[in-house]
Amino acid sequence: MPKDTWKRRTQQVHAGTRRSQYGEVSEAIYLTQGFVYDSAETAMQRFEASGDDEFIYARYGNPTVRMFEERIAALEGTEDAFATASGMAAVNAALMSLLRAGDHVVSARALFGSCLYILEDVLSRFGVEVTFVDGTDLAAWEAAVRPDTKAVFLESMSNPTLEVIDLPAVASIAHKVGATVVVDNVFSTPVFSRAIELGADVVVYSATKHIDGQGRALGGVVLGTRDYIRKALEPFIKHTGGAMSPFTAWLMLKGLETLDLRVNAQADTALKIAQTLEGHAKLSQCVFPGLPSHPHHAVAMAQLEKGGTVIALEIKGGQESAFRFLNALEIVIISNNLGDAKSIITHPTTTTHQRLTDDQRADLGITPGLVRLSVGLEDADDLVADLLSALEAV
Ligand SMILES: *Cc1c(COP(=O)(O)O)cnc(C)c1O
Repeated sequence: MPKDTWKRRTQQVHAGTRRSQYGEVSEAIYLTQGFVYDSAETAMQRFEASGDDEFIYARYGNPTVRMFEERIAALEGTEDAFATASGMAAVNAALMSLLRAGDHVVSARALFGSCLYILEDVLSRFGVEVTFVDGTDLAAWEAAVRPDTKAVFLESMSNPTLEVIDLPAVASIAHKVGATVVVDNVFSTPVFSRAIELGADVVVYSATKHIDGQGRALGGVVLGTRDYIRKALEPFIKHTGGAMSPFTAWLMLKGLETLDLRVNAQADTALKIAQTLEGHAKLSQCVFPGLPSHPHHAVAMAQLEKGGTVIALEIKGGQESAFRFLNALEIVIISNNLGDAKSIITHPTTTTHQRLTDDQRADLGITPGLVRLSVGLEDADDLVADLLSALEAV
């Protein structure tokens, strides 16, 4: 069947499948680190040039991992993909494989804590200069980009304040100086992402989030052109060791099969919750890109079609009120993953963003009353009732 005519829901279930001679229905887990050659000559040839269905060592590639890479590349609309041990292994490899000492990078400043560590601490130790900008300010991108800017980095929707960056505008500013646009697309999810069409060159996911979607395993993936993936990224990952395990790849393949259904249901519930909680007397803010009151609502609708699966709520009364709210919840659990089937709530100031200074947090809008709610697959009315009754306790 001509795979490029398949729609997303079909791709999510079938793309990249490689059946063994046994014709198994569910993808096989090739839990092997190595592969046997039938002669010394074959081994020599395999090392000279391995073909599409030929493998050498699981750190370089594995049939189960390859199925996951091909399936997600088909979904994202890229020529190729490389799977990694975690989302951070993917972010690190995407940047390290592109950059060398003396290069300049422009990055949005509203970043996941570990991404900020790579851009702020690691890259600078290797002689890469990084300029941070307010990602939603196009004039700031324009002013920061220089002829020697090699890459720009951004989270399409930022964690936890849910700023939505105008990707086509930033990509066109970057492309004028020939910079590579690297997008951490976790909050947009592969379901709503049109990142490549909108101008991204390299897309990165933490598969730990919506792709697994059931809180089981860490994983990541880098997507881009065949040239970038095979010539720049693959040598870096295969020799530095950030490969995905075959068992994880199998979990992620199973996750992809239901991704569209799960993420759409989570996004619909998130909208319902945001609409109900907006304007609540105990809240000073209900931030959700799907609400018309969100400052980047128009950009979000144009880029994502739905508002995503995460809501940021600011509880009046600061940390004490926020803790009282979290502790009164009965269905929503207190943890720090997101994209899970279970609804999860986090207090960024004291957990995920604890490492930042008060000034840095204030700059990013991470106030002591702010909580981040990742909406799961529970019944929407049950979640609304749980959230409303916990707000009563504040
Ligand atoms: C979680 C996350 C990561 C890191 O992914 P891990 O799988 O935990 O390594 C990177 N970027 C964003 C935006 C994330 O939410």
